[in-house]
Amino acid sequence: MELKDQQYRLSGDVDPLDLCETYGCPLYVYDTAIIKRQYEKIVNAFSVPKLRINYACKALTNINILKYFKHLGAGLDTVSIQEVMIGLSVGFNPEDIIYTPNCVSFEEIEMAIAKGVKINIDNISILEQFGQQYQDVPVCIRINPHIMAGGSSKISTGHIDSKFGISIHQMPLVHRVVEATGIKVEGLHMHTGSDILDAGVFLQGAEILLNVANDFEDLAYIDFGSGFKVAYKANDIETDIEELGQKISARFKRFCENYGRDLTLMFEPGKFLVSEAGSFLVKVNVVKQTTSTVFAGIDSGLNHLIRPMFYDAHHDIFNLSKPKAKPRIYTIVGYICETDTFGVNRKINEIQEGDILCFANAGAYCSTMGSNYNSRFRPAEVLVHEGQSHLIRRRETMEDILKNQIEAPLFKEALVNT
Ligand SMILES: *Cc1c(COP(=O)(O)O)cnc(C)c1O
Repeated sequence: MELKDQQYRLSGDVDPLDLCETYGCPLYVYDTAIIKRQYEKIVNAFSVPKLRINYACKALTNINILKYFKHLGAGLDTVSIQEVMIGLSVGFNPEDIIYTPNCVSFEEIEMAIAKGVKINIDNISILEQFGQQYQDVPVCIRINPHIMAGGSSKISTGHIDSKFGISIHQMPLVHRVVEATGIKVEGLHMHTGSDILDAGVFLQGAEILLNVANDFEDLAYIDFGSGFKVAYKANDIETDIEELGQKISARFKRFCENYGRDLTLMFEPGKFLVSEAGSFLVKVNVVKQTTSTVFAGIDSGLNHLIRPMFYDAHHDIFNLSKPKAKPRIYTIVGYICETDTFGVNRKINEIQEGDILCFANAGAYCSTMGSNYNSRFRPAEVLVHEGQSHLIRRRETMEDILKNQIEAPLFKEALVNT
């Protein structure tokens, strides 16, 4: 959804307030036009003979979103065997899925091997086990270049104490394992963390990975992970994708000339592709004035959108019902019995109970991080495509809340009447 000066537009002139009428609130809404725009931005920024964009599907795993990415020509980046299974179930070819797990069991990795997807290994002990049993299966190795990057310590993965990847300082050991076991290394990978602002930092990491790459003879691809930042508020800078594209492409071409063949350049963005495509629509239940604050309490909470509480993330909030009202200062809070504050001292057009608010940038890591805390239902999801809206996830019901709970026999019998 485009949000400019409190004007709200979905592609094809679909009115978000109509969607609330039809599907109810709270409601996640995704717009394929924005997904396409973001995908094309990346694809057009890089000029290399072989480019592959693998959508990091943990950002938003709805099967319709995955199908749309397949339609656009993307591959998938997955972090669990379940994500691998979803990807396969919507029709991705195994070779178009890369599996990048962290701290999973070897059994889970074996399941992914059996499915034929690309395996990315981020631990030397796993590499050893892999090499002893699967010399014939080519692998990718995740390297941690120890570049400090990322918007918060929770999402930065490249630093020295990070649990992710095999340290760049352990390359001699990696080579020893590769030689001893005869593993074929077909890819090298890094993913330093989210929210990289500076093409220079990214290039620094790339340089480290390319230096290491010269020591592997069988490479088919190099995967630079993600970290593409999007703007969450008016003056935020988003990653300058054109600048990054030009610089990385030039450097990568030089590398390939030197290496002796064209490798595939891979990226695996999540947030950049889907964040802006999503919005979250909620209804205001109460407006509550205390001595110091005017609260607007909404029909949602950290169970539906946890990023503000978990990462101190900022989501712009707009009053869709009152596009012309005077702005006032509000603190937006949820209905969970816990402090779940979405935004403090926000200037929002004057709110009345029953108004519909819109959270921007709600496509990535919002719905997928939802829970049933307080036994609340997870919201419905709608996809807007070429002027039409489609329900892509129904709102949960009491049945969903209770379906996995089992009544122990003792409560059926002995204890019932005591
Ligand atoms: C989460 C993740 C990504 C995507 O990160 P974004 O910040 O959403 O672009 C890419 N690669 C790996 C290995 C990840 O775990």
